[in-house]
Amino acid sequence: MEKIYMDHGSSMPVDKRVAEFAEHYLTNGFGNPSSRHSQGVMARRGIENAREHVARLINAENPECIIFTGGATESNNLAIRGTALRNLSIGKKVAASAIEHMSVLNPMKDLTKNGFQLNLVPVDSYGVIDLKKLEDTLSKDTIITSVMHANNEIGTIEPIDKVSKIVHDRGVYLHVDATASAGRIPIDVQKDGIDLLTLSSTDIYGPLGAGALYVKPGVKIQTVMPGGGQERGLRSGTENLFAIAGMGEAARIAKDEMEKESARLKEIRNSLVKEILKIEESYLTGHPTDRLPHHASFRFTRIEGESILLYMDMYNIQIATGSACTSKTLQASHVLLAIGLKHEEAHGSMVLTLGHSNNTEQVEKVAVAAGLTVKKLRDLSPL
Ligand code: PMP
Repeated sequence: MEKIYMDHGSSMPVDKRVAEFAEHYLTNGFGNPSSRHSQGVMARRGIENAREHVARLINAENPECIIFTGGATESNNLAIRGTALRNLSIGKKVAASAIEHMSVLNPMKDLTKNGFQLNLVPVDSYGVIDLKKLEDTLSKDTIITSVMHANNEIGTIEPIDKVSKIVHDRGVYLHVDATASAGRIPIDVQKDGIDLLTLSSTDIYGPLGAGALYVKPGVKIQTVMPGGGQERGLRSGTENLFAIAGMGEAARIAKDEMEKESARLKEIRNSLVKEILKIEESYLTGHPTDRLPHHASFRFTRIEGESILLYMDMYNIQIATGSACTSKTLQASHVLLAIGLKHEEAHGSMVLTLGHSNNTEQVEKVAVAAGLTVKKLRDLSPL
C-alpha cells in the first residue's frame, strides 16, 4: 500500500538538497565559528551565509537581525521572556491571541508567576483575531503582544498588518510566530511592521535543531540563556553548525520555490477539501479562503480524533488531530475551543498538511479512506 504522508505540520523530511549541502559541515567543514583558525573561519562563513538567506526569506533589514536558536519553542521563549524582562521599567503586561501555540502561551503564563498580567485576545469562529478586542486589551505598558502569522491547527492566516498598527498605537512590541507559515506564504517583516518573528528550520525542510528569531533593530531584549555570548549575546552556546547551515539552504530554496510549490499544493488541497466535505456531517475548521495553501482541517461529528488518526494509519495515511505537540494530553485543543466548538465537537478533528511528496493522485485515496474511517468509527460510537 502506498504511503501517503500528510502531516507536514508535525514533522517534515529534510530536503535532499539541504541534506547534501549541510553534510559538509558535519564532516570536512566542521569547526567552532568562534575559532580564529581557518577551520573556524570556514564554520563562521557557513553560519553567516545562512543568516543572509534567512534574512532574505522575511525581508529583514540586515542579516544581523537574525538570531539563531535551537528551534521555534526557543525563539518564542527568547522573544517573550527576553523583551518582558528587559523592559520591566515600562510595565508588566503581556498579551496574545487565544490560539497561539503552547510555546507562546506557556512562557507568558509563566511570567504571571513573577507579577505579570497576561491578557488573551479572542478570535472569531474562523480563528481570526478580534481586532476590536485587541484594541481594548492593549495599553502602553503591554510590553509584548504575540499574534501568529497563521495557525498550525486550523490554517487561518491572521491580518498581521492590521494587528501591527494596533499594537504600535497602543502597546510596545509585536511578536509573530511564523513557524506554520514560513516557506508557504510570503512574510515581510518591514512591510508588516513586525518587531520579533519566530522561524523554525524543520518547518521549511531544514534539519531539526535550528530556529531563528528576527529582532528588529532597536528592539530592547535580553538573553534568557547567558553564557559565552554567541549570537550577539542573545543566545549563548556553540552554534549548531550543521542545522543552521541547513536552515540557510532551506530558506534559500523556500524563497525560490515557494510561489510555485504553494500553488501546486493549494490545488491538491482544494480537491481534498471538496472530496472530504462530501462525508456526512463533516465541516472545515478555520477560514475557508484566508488559510495556508497546504492546509486542510476538518471536524466530524460523533467521533474522536485519536481514533481517526489510528484508522487512517492502517490505510498507510499519516494525518494529525489537533496539535501534534500537545496531542499526548488528549485534552480538547485550545484552538478548537477558542473558535467556539464544544468539547465533544473539538475531539473529532483531522488535520492534513501537505508537502513535497503529495500529488493529485492521492486525493481520492485519502478521501475514500477518510470516508470509510468516519463510517466505521460512527458505527462503533455510542454517541
Ligand atoms: N509554533 C508553532 C505555530 C508550531 O506549529 C510549533 C510546532 N511545530 C511550534 C511553535 C514549536 O515548534 P518546535 O516544537 O519545533 O519548537
